[in-house]
Amino acid sequence: MSFTALGLSDALLKAISEKGYTKPSTIQEKAIPEILEGKDVLASAQTGTGKTAGFILPILQIITETKKQGKRPIRALVLTPTRELAAQILDNAEAYSKHLDIRSTVVFGGVNAKPQIRALRNGVDILVATPGRLLDLHSQKAFSLGRVTTLVLDEADRMLDMGFQRDINKILDLLPSKRQNLLFSATFSKEIKKLAGGILHHPVTVEA
Ligand code: AMP
Repeated sequence: MSFTALGLSDALLKAISEKGYTKPSTIQEKAIPEILEGKDVLASAQTGTGKTAGFILPILQIITETKKQGKRPIRALVLTPTRELAAQILDNAEAYSKHLDIRSTVVFGGVNAKPQIRALRNGVDILVATPGRLLDLHSQKAFSLGRVTTLVLDEADRMLDMGFQRDINKILDLLPSKRQNLLFSATFSKEIKKLAGGILHHPVTVEA
């Protein structure tokens, strides 16, 4: 299997080849075509499997294909438990959107919020966030989530372990009800299954 066969655009294929990747990982091979078709996905994948590109690449493609010129509402929201993961996801998004007109930014706690608010006010297509800081900035009216079309819960098991269940519920209330949902988790406890059951619609299950 090649990246070309997955249905990705030339601009994405160029960025992938500049990263030095020659073939998709298992999770990428399985998840990318389903996400491009607009399906909800429940993915069992650990860090190191290439899961980040597995969701960022198709999201970049979908946003590019449906983008209205001159407008930049937040179209994709990626929730992740830690600032390190958030920063890594942003690095991925920026690398793969090198040849696209897509802007991404990241918000996480423990640092000054002002530069994060400024970046949001400039307009972004993709927002990567930890749940607490996201809610904090939303209450300051720094941005709207009313145009989000794709939600990603990355490392959902760790988010629950870290006590983010209530924050996640509050964030879900800020999103349009019609949207694509992608949930990535390394483990599948009863709690994760319950979370997935409440968020995903007829999901396709994929494993790394
Ligand atoms: P992740 O599981 O998303 O944290 O990715 C783990 C590592 O694999 C990262 O350093 C990625 O840059 C790298 N990676 C992602 N996809 C590929 C691929 N198709 N081929 C080689 N390396 C990759």
